[in-house]
Amino acid sequence: MSTDPADLEFTADEMRRMGHATVERLVDHVLSLEKQPARGDVDAANLCRRLRELPPERGVAYEPLLDRLLDEWVPRSFTSSGPGYLAYIPGGGLYPAGLADLIADVVNRYTGVRLAAPALVQLEANALDWLRDWMEFHAETRGLFTTGGSMAHFNAVVCARERHLGADIRAGVLYGSTQMHHSMTKSARLAGIMPDRVRAVPVDERFRMDVDALADLIAADRRAGLRPFCVASAAGTTNTGAVDPLNAIADLCAREGLWHHVDGAYGAFFHMCPELRDLMPGLSRADSLTLDPHKGLFLPYGTGALLVRDGAALRRAHEATAGYLPGRADGDEFYDPHLYGPELSRGFPGLRVWLCLKLYGAERFRAALAEKRALALEAAARVAAMPGIVMAAPPQVSLFAFHLRWPGSGLAEENRATELLVERVNLRNRVMLSGAVVEGRFLARVCVLSFRTRARHVEACATDLAEEAAAVLATVSA
Ligand SMILES: *Cc1c(COP(=O)(O)O)cnc(C)c1O
Repeated sequence: MSTDPADLEFTADEMRRMGHATVERLVDHVLSLEKQPARGDVDAANLCRRLRELPPERGVAYEPLLDRLLDEWVPRSFTSSGPGYLAYIPGGGLYPAGLADLIADVVNRYTGVRLAAPALVQLEANALDWLRDWMEFHAETRGLFTTGGSMAHFNAVVCARERHLGADIRAGVLYGSTQMHHSMTKSARLAGIMPDRVRAVPVDERFRMDVDALADLIAADRRAGLRPFCVASAAGTTNTGAVDPLNAIADLCAREGLWHHVDGAYGAFFHMCPELRDLMPGLSRADSLTLDPHKGLFLPYGTGALLVRDGAALRRAHEATAGYLPGRADGDEFYDPHLYGPELSRGFPGLRVWLCLKLYGAERFRAALAEKRALALEAAARVAAMPGIVMAAPPQVSLFAFHLRWPGSGLAEENRATELLVERVNLRNRVMLSGAVVEGRFLARVCVLSFRTRARHVEACATDLAEEAAAVLATVSA
């Protein structure tokens, strides 16, 4: 760097050296993912205390920081980009998305307002249109890249609220199943729909929303003088992977004049595969759909997406202007991010999506998604056949949930034993599983969605589960 303290530019050689060092370390990192412990060591309170420091007054060298990041701090985490990550809803981490972020950050062009970077914004608009086509939404659909599914939900609730309630929001009621993701309730509250106006609809034996019960709740709220306005259903819940009856809910919403939001953060991208569309019939009829490219498109964390069937509703909810902003020379022909979303200055989220879609092409994503579902079915068949295991939620998409049971066992003991099973499998550090408490019962879950999870990792999962289940059952029945 220059000796002039006000000159913040690194020299050309320094920029190259830093870049090369980074890429070298990252490629080594990717190659090591297979061998990294699946859960990693996150017991790091003392490390975090030691990490606290006063604001740095003088700069330090780059490489030692890079070393400490990758050698000491990155490993203290769940290996959520590794092949053994079958916990929660796995994410991705496609390498070219990192390059896209680097490009976006270094060129640092302004993509909040179309006029400032029309060609770059067009790439983002293309990516949104591609998602729209794959989800089989019609041409008037408009979309928005967000930082994740939660923010997509939030914007969907705002659209529904504006359309159906206007300024009178206190009477509005939103419905979702007992299995609805908590980010939906949170989004409702952020959008001014308080928890006392959010209804939990019972589910059937496969954890899908009971549509008759939904209709009863809506009728009861209308009788009480409230204003039902939105039903949030799931194309794959996080707890058990349940797909709500989207067609029946869409019919009911049409009859009742309600907004139908579908949470496809986990499952929606499976709709890209024509042979899997029957898993989520009715998905394309939603008024709005949350997608999470950082799950089902295997991108790194930080990218969610929302599609809104009535694109004008998305725009009405977000449009704003100011005297200092440039006009729009091309009228309404082109997508303009700040008119369709809450942000003005922002990163360039479209580039990582666009670049990955161009580099791989849709067929590679379809192949990977279809393989993840096939692996989940295979794993579920093996787990269901293990002695002492009850398959509580067979896979609807690529996630299944189960628990232990043995002669004479009760719920509390089964819960403890199933939790112990998950813990013991995780201690082996070849795969990482997580659990969920559903209607008082602890379920172990396996979700196959990481693009790095292949047949051998599912094999390891089945082996570890079989051995540890036998071990746990031996102790409880002794
Ligand atoms: C992950 C997830 C969310 C939340 O999305 P974020 O991207 O984590 O904000 C919501 N619903 C479902 C079904 C999910 O899997």
